[in-house]
Amino acid sequence: MTIAERISDSLIDRLSDKTLLQTDSFVDGAWMSGERRFDVSNPADNSVIASVGDVGEAGAHQAVAAAARAFETWKKVSPFQRAALLMKWHKLILENLDDLAAILTTEMGKTLTEAKGEILYGAGFIEWSAEEGKRIMGETLTPPFPNSRGWTLHQPIGVVACITPWNFPNAMITRKCAPALAAGCTMVIKPAPETPLSALALAELAKRAGIPDGVFNVVCGDAQKIGPVLTGSSEVRMIGFTGSTPVGKLLMRQAADGVKRVALELGGNAPFIVMDDADLDAAADGVVASKFRVSGQTCVSANRIIAQPAIADALIEKLKERVDALKPGNGFEAGSDLGPLIHHEAVERVDALVRSARDSGANIIAGGAPLVDELGGAFYAPTLIEGGSPDMDLACFEIFGPVASVYRVESEADIVKLANDTPYGLAAYIYTRDINRVHRLSEALEYGMVGVNAPMVGSFSSPFGGMKESGIGREGGKWGVEEFTELKWVILGGIDQ
Ligand code: NAP
Repeated sequence: MTIAERISDSLIDRLSDKTLLQTDSFVDGAWMSGERRFDVSNPADNSVIASVGDVGEAGAHQAVAAAARAFETWKKVSPFQRAALLMKWHKLILENLDDLAAILTTEMGKTLTEAKGEILYGAGFIEWSAEEGKRIMGETLTPPFPNSRGWTLHQPIGVVACITPWNFPNAMITRKCAPALAAGCTMVIKPAPETPLSALALAELAKRAGIPDGVFNVVCGDAQKIGPVLTGSSEVRMIGFTGSTPVGKLLMRQAADGVKRVALELGGNAPFIVMDDADLDAAADGVVASKFRVSGQTCVSANRIIAQPAIADALIEKLKERVDALKPGNGFEAGSDLGPLIHHEAVERVDALVRSARDSGANIIAGGAPLVDELGGAFYAPTLIEGGSPDMDLACFEIFGPVASVYRVESEADIVKLANDTPYGLAAYIYTRDINRVHRLSEALEYGMVGVNAPMVGSFSSPFGGMKESGIGREGGKWGVEEFTELKWVILGGIDQ
């Protein structure tokens, strides 16, 4: 099969560098096709855009073996040399920003502006990690024994297997790979089947950057076959996963047999708290940014907007103006504010949550229906709901769609109680101008990240991660690099004094 047979003309025509379009897995520095193929579709118009090879268990075994071999040399490469290679990869990503964004928008649906934003965010992890990798430092300690000295080392953990989701097909890979590679680990990545092309384009650029064979491998295919190879192999020392909480729990159970380290970035149910002293325009802008970015399909999307009754009507009015003004549409069209959901099952799932909220007495103030017929893809209308109960499904489950729902709660104690009344603990938001409330609320919220008058919590320099069933470990900043190292203690005795 030629590239032209595997990829639709509509995508090929958009790219200036067509060799970024790869449809086979990348193992030990070479492209590996599988025994069967699967289709990748554009959620904005349901068209099939590519046919990608599934390498199955055999391919996964080969990738792990390649990563294990490559680890023996990569771990000894100086951090400065590793940084130089990472910076070449970073440069190539920036040079190919437009093409990478076109691939991302085609397979995932987010708008071109959002896609470019994601690629720059993802590239930021590479630059940061390249620098941070040079600063992995141990300490000298005083042992309680005579004639002895001691020190610590941070050494790369080994082969890391990463399983990533479709909502950030580029950045969820670089957020793990960049610190892991900088620390001296080698990688096997299994991207989501909805968005393999962004992962494979990253592999193509890693190859061009000169990252050695076997250091960065991407295996596409059936998760049920590939997953157990990654979690079961004794050569894999760590599983990095971003995705849903049920799959995270399953992988954690599988990894337990080999006592592998796990880093899990899982689902969320973010409260967005608006106190009665908040700047309401800033709060309404914040809700829109947090809730409708990527059509609500981010793990840190505001899931429950909790407003004090004194300002709830005014906030809802401001939200309605903003939600009514949002324009859903194909991510390539200028003026589209939000793209489609990932597929039609997602539209049905979101619509079921909205219908059940309506049936239980909530008011639909804006939107509230699929736009599949009107727009021809997996679109859902930007939606605003109020008057529902905090125990309805819409409030208890991760919505993962463009649906904002407002709940009125009076006292600070009840706000904290409701905000924490969920198994999740990823991101929370507070809008207030009262510094005492800032301290009280940010300390009381059981969440790994708190945005105060700020609707975005993720960056390459800060720790990203959750508490409770939202995950284990942190990505980003110096913490992100440390995750991929083992702390070793060395004691030297017998020193003549
Ligand atoms: P998902 O269904 O859990 O899938 C994520 C990845 O896991 C995919 O590559 C999937 O491949 C794979 N997978 C599924 N079952 C598996 C198994 N048994 N063994 C090995 N791999 C398996 O999640 P999603 O729908 O793609 O993503 C949405 C979820 O991700 C949301 O809950 C969101 O909150 C979460 N998320 C969290 C963060 C964070 O940083 N905390 C960031 C982004 C997204 P297949 O599809 O082939 O099964």
